[in-house]
Amino acid sequence: DRGNVTITYQPGALPYPPVKLLNPIEKKRVLVTGGAGFVGSHLVDRLMLMGSKANVAHWIGHPNFELIRHDVVDPILVEVDQIYHLACPASPVHYQSNPVKTLKTGFFGTYNMLGLSKRVKARFLLASTSEIYGDPEEHPQKESYWGHVNCVGPRACYDEGKRVAETLAYSYNRQDNVDVRVARIFNTFGPRMNWNDGRVVSNFILQALKDEDLTVYGDGKSTRSFQYVHDLVDGLILLMNSDCKEPVNIGTQQEFTINEFAEMVIDLAKKETGKCDSKLIHLPALEDDPQRRKPDNSRAKEQLNWEPKWNVVDGLAETLKYFKTQLEERL
Ligand code: UDP
Repeated sequence: DRGNVTITYQPGALPYPPVKLLNPIEKKRVLVTGGAGFVGSHLVDRLMLMGSKANVAHWIGHPNFELIRHDVVDPILVEVDQIYHLACPASPVHYQSNPVKTLKTGFFGTYNMLGLSKRVKARFLLASTSEIYGDPEEHPQKESYWGHVNCVGPRACYDEGKRVAETLAYSYNRQDNVDVRVARIFNTFGPRMNWNDGRVVSNFILQALKDEDLTVYGDGKSTRSFQYVHDLVDGLILLMNSDCKEPVNIGTQQEFTINEFAEMVIDLAKKETGKCDSKLIHLPALEDDPQRRKPDNSRAKEQLNWEPKWNVVDGLAETLKYFKTQLEERL
């Protein structure tokens, strides 16, 4: 609650993180591709709060907001000052269901948005990914690491799509002086994750809430570092408005094995619902599943003065409440 501006995800949620109100002369025209997606919608909330004092429950119809239904694989012309290019499926289940479309989004989507940036002289921020490191041989991963990607494997459509997207961004910078920023985003979760997202956070939470067993692929010893979406949004806005032109990892250092993560979700579900008898079941391992993942985030600290503020347990508790409300509404 910031005076007359409130965003509520569900009853009992922690207050929305602080935002800095912009001076009207600092206000910018901003394009967020993928603005209706999971991360994009949180980014839109924050950008709108920074620039607006109006009621924010629903942005449609707000004079500072325009919803454009458009596939980034096709060119578009809009007059803007900044472009956050987020549009792309990010869950392995989704991006592997149509790998050619994923590649088209990675290449043509980024190409079109960079072409637009060049034409209207907008600053461009690419939502890149920790997946560009592949199944990493360096741990934790620094931005200087070139990665270890199987270019013919099932994840390649996403990984190589994002790698070529980075290459496009820096090529437009070299050739045409387009002002680019690259965020390498590590695993992120929070309210508004798609019900059918298919990644570990929503799968485990929904399974625990329904008292079903948690599906661990393989031995559950692979690791991930999970950040809460509000921290990511802080990082994206700071990076966009910084002078840092190098790629920057945005992720938390709190690393868990998938088994540990599953136990954590079960404990939280017990606290939230009073009961949860779920156990872990082990299913066959996924092909090319990265075995460990954790960012070295010293560049973000040094260049952006950014560090995650949320711990995983608090973020997960919020996300669990969100999914519980969703489940109740569906019953
Ligand atoms: N995973 C799992 N059970 C699930 C979903 C995922 O054990 O129901 C594992 C998956 O094998 C991987 C990790 O959790 O080791 C993270 O997978 P996710 O699909 O969430 O995202 P990724 O980081 O691989 O893109």
